Amino acid sequence: MAALRCASLMEAMATTFSVGITCSCGSTKFDRPENPRPSDVITCQRCGKKTRWDQLVKKAGEQAVKQVKDAMKDVFRRAGFQ
Ligand SMILES: [Zn+2]
Repeated sequence: MAALRCASLMEAMATTFSVGITCSCGSTKFDRPENPRPSDVITCQRCGKKTRWDQLVKKAGEQAVKQVKDAMKDVFRRAGFQ
């Protein structure tokens, strides 16, 4: 249950900061259920690579977190903090 919540949070982050869920080949198109569960294995439509949904979401979430951190740094820099 905790893992599910965590994945949902990561997904929400990725959506909020429009970080796409991407395959390592760069594709953003996947064969996936409407509401995938973390343990669902989805298939990249371009290269056919199979990846667990929670792994993809985690990666996207980490990118979103990085974007937020970078954005924060920028805000502080503009505000005169070094
Ligand atoms: Zn791919």
